[in-house]
Amino acid sequence: MATTYQNWIGGRWVPARSGGTRENIDPASGEVLGIFPRSGAEDVNDAVGAARKALDSWRAVPAPRRGEILFRAGETLVRCKEEFARDMTSEMGKVLKEARGDVQEAIDMTYYMAGEGRRCFGQTTPSELPDKFAMSVRQSVGVAAAITPWNFPMAIPAWKIMPALITGNTVVLKAANDTPKSAWNLVKALEEAGLPAGVLNVVFGSGSEVGTPLVEHPDVDLISFTGSNEVGSGIAFKAAQFGKRLHLELGGKNAIIILDDADLGLALDGVIWSAFGTTGQRCTAASRVIAQRGILDELTERLIARTEALRLGHGLEEGTDVGPVVNQEQLAKVDGYMDVARRDGATIACGGSVANVGPLAKGFFFRPTVLTDVKPKMRVAQEEIFGPVTAVIAVDSLEEAIAVNNNVSYGLSTSIYTRDVNQAFRAIEGITTGLVYVNAGTIGAEVHLPFGGTRGTGNGHREAGQAALDTYTEWKTVYVDYSGKLQKAQIDVE
Ligand code: NAP
Repeated sequence: MATTYQNWIGGRWVPARSGGTRENIDPASGEVLGIFPRSGAEDVNDAVGAARKALDSWRAVPAPRRGEILFRAGETLVRCKEEFARDMTSEMGKVLKEARGDVQEAIDMTYYMAGEGRRCFGQTTPSELPDKFAMSVRQSVGVAAAITPWNFPMAIPAWKIMPALITGNTVVLKAANDTPKSAWNLVKALEEAGLPAGVLNVVFGSGSEVGTPLVEHPDVDLISFTGSNEVGSGIAFKAAQFGKRLHLELGGKNAIIILDDADLGLALDGVIWSAFGTTGQRCTAASRVIAQRGILDELTERLIARTEALRLGHGLEEGTDVGPVVNQEQLAKVDGYMDVARRDGATIACGGSVANVGPLAKGFFFRPTVLTDVKPKMRVAQEEIFGPVTAVIAVDSLEEAIAVNNNVSYGLSTSIYTRDVNQAFRAIEGITTGLVYVNAGTIGAEVHLPFGGTRGTGNGHREAGQAALDTYTEWKTVYVDYSGKLQKAQIDVE
């Protein structure tokens, strides 16, 4: 019998008001892992109401005290890391060592933001007038809605919840329907750490039944959304309409540039990890390899050989390199891109089909795929596929590589492999994505630096690092005049 889980609203574990439920399924085996609420607008209303009610008292808790609760939650995450990683692999398919990394990212963010409880620095600055003091401090925004995808089912909720909480906001989390258990584990750790009732709430359910009423709720002040451009742009319209603060982290079409002088073995390690890690379902996945012509043939040959050697399987099994994609819809989408590739004149050099024999029969498996003869304007070189597929594009020079890299509607992550420091710095300067790596793959962000992208990947905000605090706080500028007389800024200048 699968366990039944509940929403956490106002400090109580409760079922959906409608009584509706939904099964959480293992994408590698079809096994039912748990039963979660299928919530709706009335549950959202309860959760937002609880968050609003808790706001004033949570804001009044000194930030270092808020940080202590986060530290305690971090300790639970450390203690339960293996269990939570296994839950994650079971519900979304990524191989176990990557799921451990996902939990670790949540741990890192929790500790990092807990530390912010004793920083959250503002500025103090001289005033232009005598006997006057000037400073700025951060204050919370209010009730935050965190809407998160399935590909980093614990890390991304933590990226949003921790900075929101430490800065005194209350939160309603709407986690992806495909990965409720990882969200439940995170919320439970915060509950056990002593978070007061209503400060954090989680409502399980679909985008249309939970996400939409959450976005539209008049008592939600701020929305932080990570997911697809399609959904994100719809939310952007509503946020503008309803006057809400909005943070968007959307898709990517990331590239690894490999120049003629690169260490090819190192570059190939980076491509394999970045293209096929998390089955290619990372916003930072390297779905393009931009190769200078001098190394093109050798690179392609070695890339195909290494890709064909990758082992598909259940993420919990020892020796599995690549797990399933998350669901049937995603599998069909990835498969559909093979026709697109053929029609546009690309070559499917390896992989290119669903894998469904033997132990893979019950899961959503797609063979790791390398596309060659790809031109920069082809759809497979422009659109996010979000599966184990990478496209090799040939270029003549660094300048052409940079132009090809930048000429997509996304702007998240790029890496360059070269041994020439001058070329590396030219690339750092010319590449217009939010993240740039030199001699490393397109994935591997650390939580104390800003994370996010340019162009269609976002709306200018950043997750993680100090930059995350900007999403969850308003600046309050404070002037204290202790001269005892009226002093006029800009006017009393003599
Ligand atoms: P998605 O379909 O856009 O869903 C993201 C979240 O939004 C889910 O919780 C989803 O609920 C919810 N949702 C769906 N429709 C909604 C609506 N109308 N109103 C409010 N919420 C709604 O994205 P996904 O397939 O989960 O994730 C993959 C995408 O995320 C990719 O494009 C990837 O690049 C992007 N991503 C970006 C970053 C980044 O940092 N830039 C990081 C990770 C992923 P359901 O689960 O019920 O559909």
